[in-house]
Amino acid sequence: MKDLVDKIAALEKISKQLEPSVKDRNDLNREAQMFANSFLENLESYSAYNSQPPKFETLSLQKMPKTFSELLVAFNSEVVLKGIKPASGKHLGYVPGGGIYTAAIADFLAGVTNEYAGMYYASPGAVTIENELLNWMKDIFGFPSSAVGNLTSGGSIANLIALTAARDKYKIKNEKITKSVIYVSPQVHHCIHKALRIIGLEDIQIRFLELDENYKIITSNLIKYIEKDVLNNLNPFMVIASAGTTDTGAVDPLLEIGNIAKQHNLWYHVDGAYGGFFMLLAQKKHLFKGIHMADSLVVDPHKGLFLPYGLGAVLVKDKEAVFHSHHYTANYMQDAKGDLQINPSDVSPELTKHFRGLRLWLPLQLHGLKPFIASLEEKILLTTYFRNNLKQLGFALGPEPDLTVSYFWYPSKKVNQNEFNQKLLAFIHAHGDVFLSSTKINDRFVIRMAILSVRTKKKTIDSAVEMIAFCLKQTNEYFSTLS
Ligand SMILES: *Cc1c(COP(=O)(O)O)cnc(C)c1O
Repeated sequence: MKDLVDKIAALEKISKQLEPSVKDRNDLNREAQMFANSFLENLESYSAYNSQPPKFETLSLQKMPKTFSELLVAFNSEVVLKGIKPASGKHLGYVPGGGIYTAAIADFLAGVTNEYAGMYYASPGAVTIENELLNWMKDIFGFPSSAVGNLTSGGSIANLIALTAARDKYKIKNEKITKSVIYVSPQVHHCIHKALRIIGLEDIQIRFLELDENYKIITSNLIKYIEKDVLNNLNPFMVIASAGTTDTGAVDPLLEIGNIAKQHNLWYHVDGAYGGFFMLLAQKKHLFKGIHMADSLVVDPHKGLFLPYGLGAVLVKDKEAVFHSHHYTANYMQDAKGDLQINPSDVSPELTKHFRGLRLWLPLQLHGLKPFIASLEEKILLTTYFRNNLKQLGFALGPEPDLTVSYFWYPSKKVNQNEFNQKLLAFIHAHGDVFLSSTKINDRFVIRMAILSVRTKKKTIDSAVEMIAFCLKQTNEYFSTLS
């Protein structure tokens, strides 16, 4: 016994190192705070993109502990200063959000208190906050209070949960899989295809719908496809619309598609990961008419509400459909019976889950909704401003966007246009001041702009225009020396 107690005492001496003293905590906090302040103060002067790879040796795990200051230096040089800078307002590629500071404070508090947000029984307060946020979203999108939802790590997992519910509601399994049909836009986000494979629907039939000149689903074709599939003894199952496509920012005609879905008894899923929260703008509401008809809806607060990465959301009207795959009772969870609210763990593959609701709840409570709405409207106007400037530089533009994603290309007459624009983008990436990504639209290589970072301001767009004008000159020179 004495031996045992001595051993425990010896181990405690070492394991205690994981629990810093008040003084140590103060020191750590101070250093982290200084780092965060310096990062944010200097953010604007950083390039939005640096293509250099990190030094592996600097990041590899070392046998001997290092000091926090040493690690911050390595973190800064090899992580923060390399790659794309998502916190920067000059990130106009993919779908940026920026990351508001008060959400980071919430993450800190969620980490320190380590609330268990998977079940009401464990943290009724945390689960109440998460459900309150979901209720708020139900209100925005016109979902009934009986709908269930989940705060996920992002839009991909949110889409996965929605599609699983659709599968279970319509019992798409066994020989039914290959006969069932899903209707999507060719512009649907690729996470939908991933989700279908993950949930065992890889062999389902996918109909790609024709799009109009604004890259929106043509609904008359949808009806034709459904009727033809019924005639061929197939099983029309689900239609997926996008409330803001990633490539072109288009919002599909949600009301018309909703009506067709109801008429033909299809599950109606809307992916609003990029565009959903633009519904908060009075002048954009009309685009989202009919979104309330969806059986399931995905939005991404780490895009449209400017949070740091790590928060998506899904709403599903049919609770039983969601519970079919996710609700589980195990013996070791018998104490959790009789919970007063829906448990997040019954709506998601996750059991133990980070208390990610706090990172949305705190900013909403601290700032109110107004600055979020103003910021969304600002992004819409900046998109127009950017496009106007590009036009003056001689660029060709994609169609007037519904929201804040658009694209452009230089209609070079001397050289193959795709080649010219690829070279132009290479110069833009090498320049690095403002980050833009590219995509292919109807085989045309185009440069894409996605304006959704909370830190993108008018002066950001001015620098982007300046950079593009400079790179355009470089590209012209490059091709003229070739010829
Ligand atoms: C970003 C995006 C997704 C994927 O969401 P993640 O948060 O990146 O997992 C899905 N659909 C659309 C339309 C998106 O823009």
